[in-house]
Amino acid sequence: MKKVCFIVAMQGEAKPLIRHFGLHHIEGCFGSLPPQAYRASYAGKEIFLVTNGIEQETGLDYIGCEAAVLSAHLAVSSFSPDLIINAGTAGGFVSKGAEIGDVYLSNKYVVFHDRRVPIPGWDKMGQGYLPCVDPLNIISEINAKSGVCTSGSSLDITGDDLEQMKQTGGEVKDMEAGAVAWVASLYNIPLLCVKAITDLVDAGHSTPEQFNDNFLLATQRLDDVCFRLIDEKLVDKL
Ligand code: SAH
Repeated sequence: MKKVCFIVAMQGEAKPLIRHFGLHHIEGCFGSLPPQAYRASYAGKEIFLVTNGIEQETGLDYIGCEAAVLSAHLAVSSFSPDLIINAGTAGGFVSKGAEIGDVYLSNKYVVFHDRRVPIPGWDKMGQGYLPCVDPLNIISEINAKSGVCTSGSSLDITGDDLEQMKQTGGEVKDMEAGAVAWVASLYNIPLLCVKAITDLVDAGHSTPEQFNDNFLLATQRLDDVCFRLIDEKLVDKL
């Protein structure tokens, strides 16, 4: 695992990683496209980080699958990493034992929960079932849980989404992992998702409020795990 590339949706999630690894911005790396790239040599590795970038009009981070596909594709075609780490925040479920600030490593496969295509073949393609590395070798050494990551295009959740999550076993809900996993699978590059829980979807509280209240705590935990993956060379055991 000589070259490791973090794909991170939001600048707020990426900032502590940029600082810790001493990453420097590669000015104009992707021309006028929104994703931004950073790099450094660190602890015997080449570390890259690509963020989704910011929408000019609103000044907000691009989130969601379209932006994540673009970031992941540009990252892979520019840097050919040996491992992709999709780091970010996510919603968890009390019913699955999640607590605010928990960090999950992706396990088994990565799926989507808001694609409804009830035609044999396309139903499975819609849900994804995309590969990710087995985290079980390192999970006991790191303060994290493991679970099936599932992605969709909305922050909220509907009954139909829940129904699909029941079918796929999805446990950790975000808006990018599936997209990054799809690109990683096309290039056959190992993928690990690291997701910190900002909100509990089934706790009866507003998701946007929980997201804003817990964003700092969750990103601190997320970054701690990401630092350890590199500093303690845990990625080499994947
Ligand atoms: N209000 C936020 C918007 C963040 S949207 C802002 O300040 O800009 C949610 C982002 O966090 C996405 O990148 C998504 O991957 C992740 N996320 C956190 N909780 C989520 C949840 N419950 N469902 C889906 N995505 C979630």
